[in-house]
Amino acid sequence: MSVVVVGSVAYDDIETPRGRAKGLLGGSATHFCVAGSFFSRMELVAAVGEDFAPQDREFLAGRGIGLEGLQVLPGKTFRWGGRYHENMNVRDSLYTDLNVFADFRPVLSTRARRAEIVFLANIIPDLQIEVLDQLEPGRRLVACDTMSHWIEGHREAVERMVGRTDMLVINEEEAKLLAGEQGIVKAARRIQAMGPTRVLIKRGEYGIIYFSPDSVFAVPAYPLEEATDPTGAGDAFAGACMGYLAQTGDLSDAGMRRAMVYGTVVASFIVEDFGLNRLRALTRQDVEGRYREFVALTSFGRG
Ligand code: AMP
Repeated sequence: MSVVVVGSVAYDDIETPRGRAKGLLGGSATHFCVAGSFFSRMELVAAVGEDFAPQDREFLAGRGIGLEGLQVLPGKTFRWGGRYHENMNVRDSLYTDLNVFADFRPVLSTRARRAEIVFLANIIPDLQIEVLDQLEPGRRLVACDTMSHWIEGHREAVERMVGRTDMLVINEEEAKLLAGEQGIVKAARRIQAMGPTRVLIKRGEYGIIYFSPDSVFAVPAYPLEEATDPTGAGDAFAGACMGYLAQTGDLSDAGMRRAMVYGTVVASFIVEDFGLNRLRALTRQDVEGRYREFVALTSFGRG
């Protein structure tokens, strides 16, 4: 199975209590694709500017990521600046410069239109809708993400987009904002009523909680000694989760649960260094090793 993703490809300037870094390769779709590429072929649909570095393109191509849908447009690549507080669950967006995304119209190749799994990563909701309009019927899973920036400024489009998907993957605060509910369970149920039958809520260093029509499942985050930069953890979680689902083709409840643990494992690595740096050196064996640790971390007797 293959996975297609539309979202941002960016250069990020990041400050955390552990240090700062400028011009890092980032973006929601980039983190998603790189994480997913440990498991499956990913097709990237996005835009970059003329300043996009050849070595960044080579890095993505070298991971087997399909770049047919990556347009190079006149102007600059999307740029995002973020500053994390001492409590790294809290961050401020310093700037969001859309640049080439202001004029981007996504075009899906025939292969991308037929991908079994589709992920609408965080980007302008109207672009996410344009991708939905191009999909052929019969996709196995169409999932999406969004963020407060878009919920606050483009609520109607966000609701229209979310309502056409099977699954929403979203941060806790953003789920509450979208649903207009303060309790996490009520927020998830309210979102399910908007359309997506599956709602996966990301809770930063506390892990994730997943609501399907039949069950609720929770995974803690991996207990790390020290986090360096949480940027992209949510996207890497989703990418590894969807990449694993595509690799196994098992979208049953049990298959979803395993996929969510793989997502948690890859996300735990990304926060160990700035940007994508940790994933550049990571191997599938490293991933499997931490997956086994996770099984031990969460297993308990029947009581
Ligand atoms: P995450 O930490 O998972 O929320 O993802 C952070 C990534 O999302 C960064 O690499 C940013 O380039 C990108 N990003 C930040 N704000 C936006 C936005 N409003 N739309 C799309 N992508 C964004």
